[in-house]
Amino acid sequence: MRRLPIYFLIDVSESMVGEPISQVEEGISTIIQALKTDPTAIETVWISIIVFAGKAKTILPLQDIISFYPPKYPIGSGTSLTNGLRHLMNELDGNVKKTTATSKGDWKPIVFLFTDGVPTDHTDTVISEWKQRWQRAANLVAVSFGSEANAGILGQLTEHVLFFRNANIDSYKYFFKWITASITTSSVNIENNGTGLELEKIDNDWLSKIDISKSDPVVQLVDDNFVVLLAKCQTSHRHFLIKYRKSIGSNNWGGLNLDTRSYLQVGAFPLKDDYFELSDGAGNQKINTAELVGAPACPCCSNQFALAQCSCGQIHCIGYEEMNTCPWCGKTSRYIVVEEGGGFDVNRTQG
Ligand SMILES: [Zn+2]
Ligand SMILES: [Zn+2]
Repeated sequence: MRRLPIYFLIDVSESMVGEPISQVEEGISTIIQALKTDPTAIETVWISIIVFAGKAKTILPLQDIISFYPPKYPIGSGTSLTNGLRHLMNELDGNVKKTTATSKGDWKPIVFLFTDGVPTDHTDTVISEWKQRWQRAANLVAVSFGSEANAGILGQLTEHVLFFRNANIDSYKYFFKWITASITTSSVNIENNGTGLELEKIDNDWLSKIDISKSDPVVQLVDDNFVVLLAKCQTSHRHFLIKYRKSIGSNNWGGLNLDTRSYLQVGAFPLKDDYFELSDGAGNQKINTAELVGAPACPCCSNQFALAQCSCGQIHCIGYEEMNTCPWCGKTSRYIVVEEGGGFDVNRTQG
């Protein structure tokens, strides 16, 4: 039986922390469960999951769906599409069987790329490498989560660029059902369809095809849709992320219509040690805390405030005690509360 290799290439940069990554985790498990009920899929579909942030990593090597056990998804810093695609191409080189004179190889692999935000690196070299080596030898479906900004770059990789509006739990259910149906149809009809890819019809606003001729490639060194801060718990010394989502409001100020930008609190999320393994360490952008609305509690201990800054520049949690010890530099000092409306600059991650 010829295999149909399916690769998921998933952005696990900081902006994915919280609901998006847990929805993806659950979504991929439901895809596999559904495929297991389809006899053709059981025989042909093989699956692999690669994640990328500043660096890339295979969290599920190519395997049949019967032996699938859901992997854990890490979070890292940065969105290096270059490292993600390069890692993907290495995996394709190493695992996809080519057709030879004596034997039929695998079917054309299908790659689903999920990315949330804009690459934080320059992608020209890796894109031309992809075009030369894999654009015709694989089917790539690129899905932008929550922002249309990077459609231009994705459009250089493939004609299949989709925008997924992750509005609520139902939108995720719809999205993963659509992926499942596309995989099933492609595997059932693979003998007959020329390209090896048959995407299901889209019949909901949550998902739409992006007209790539209308968008230009954008490169930003930091993902502007979110502000994500790296912090450490004073009590447990564990790392965690504090996440804010951009919100544009209009403000009628003195008769002028101004668009005001602020960032609303999403939450604070504990990290595992593999955060540093997937991070590229680049970037030193700042944000003023006056732009950040809402202050979450520490997700690792009972401290009331996740966001306090030591004179060393690092962020950590803080309670009601006057004296605090910075878990980054070890210095004990007296902390002051910044008045509402006032702010201070903190380091933000690349998102
Ligand atoms: Zn804490
Ligand atoms: Zn410190």
